[in-house]
Amino acid sequence: MIEIQNLTKRYKNNQEPTLKNISLKIVDTGLYYLVGKSGSGKSTLLQIIGGMDYDYQGKVIVDKKDLSSLNEIEKADYRYQKISFIFQDYQAIEKETVLDNLLKPLAISSLSLSEKKKKIAECLKRVGLLNKLKKNFNELSGGEKKRIALVRGLIKETPILLADEPLASLNKNIRNDITDILVEESRKRAVIIITHEEDEIPECAEVFRLIDGKITFENKIDQQVNLPLKPKTRHPFSLIDNFREIYTNLLSKRKFLTIALFSLVVALFSITFSFLLSNGVKNSLESTITSFMSENSLVITNKDESYTGTAFAEVR
Ligand code: ADP
Ligand code: MG
Repeated sequence: MIEIQNLTKRYKNNQEPTLKNISLKIVDTGLYYLVGKSGSGKSTLLQIIGGMDYDYQGKVIVDKKDLSSLNEIEKADYRYQKISFIFQDYQAIEKETVLDNLLKPLAISSLSLSEKKKKIAECLKRVGLLNKLKKNFNELSGGEKKRIALVRGLIKETPILLADEPLASLNKNIRNDITDILVEESRKRAVIIITHEEDEIPECAEVFRLIDGKITFENKIDQQVNLPLKPKTRHPFSLIDNFREIYTNLLSKRKFLTIALFSLVVALFSITFSFLLSNGVKNSLESTITSFMSENSLVITNKDESYTGTAFAEVR
């Protein structure tokens, strides 16, 4: 269980505290959404719960331990044992493969390499990206990167899963699929999600809203009761979704498309122009030669169709 008591967070150089006297409770299994305007402190709160920031006033107690009382080794242990984090900015190494990136959260796990690979493959399959295992991270589309970030959060079976805007800039079908996975996870552990897609928050979630550094509680439900999952009406991460994503991606790269189209037009124009030019040169050469010929010239034309030119000889 996570219990936050009178948490106040002030960044240096900021006059007002970002979080003001926040208190809340999160039980062991359940789905929680953190909403609020951009800059309202959502990521700050998630990072404090995730043990990435200890510079605050108040208490953050997880499983009866006050996080600020932990020493450095215990803090690292807390992050490894308790927390899985789906980062908004992926926190991946662009030039490494998906596999290498996903091995990182398991770096100090006691699993053998083949067990780790099996686990990674299972999680990738869950988000429909098993075929990207050996691709470099920078070869993936934005939506695929988001799904790999999700896999990072699924791979360690920790009691707390934190997700910072896991649905941002994805199409609706993929957002629904990811939400289904997060709802499923929330039956085994506490899942806290930051989102701006408020109309897509499932009914089984508890919602915290941050306004001017203060927290309000909405849609309060009893997280101890396990609500049934929404029945799935379609296969998650379908092929159509992938094509739609590629199409959306291309549309978003308008600058690239314009340059490609312009290059194509220039290439076609150059080919046509050089063809016309070579024909024109040939014709003008022939007419120049003809004009220089004397009346006594004999013109020999080859009837062979494979040769289309004309030969000239002067008769003396
Ligand atoms: P949200 O996730 O809701 O968009 P953040 O938690 O990222 O909001 O930021 C809340 C406020 O704290 C913002 O005003 C932001 O500028 C400020 N802030 C965030 N991180 C830092 C930092 N490292 N140093 C100084 N100010 C910060
Ligand atoms: Mg944020």
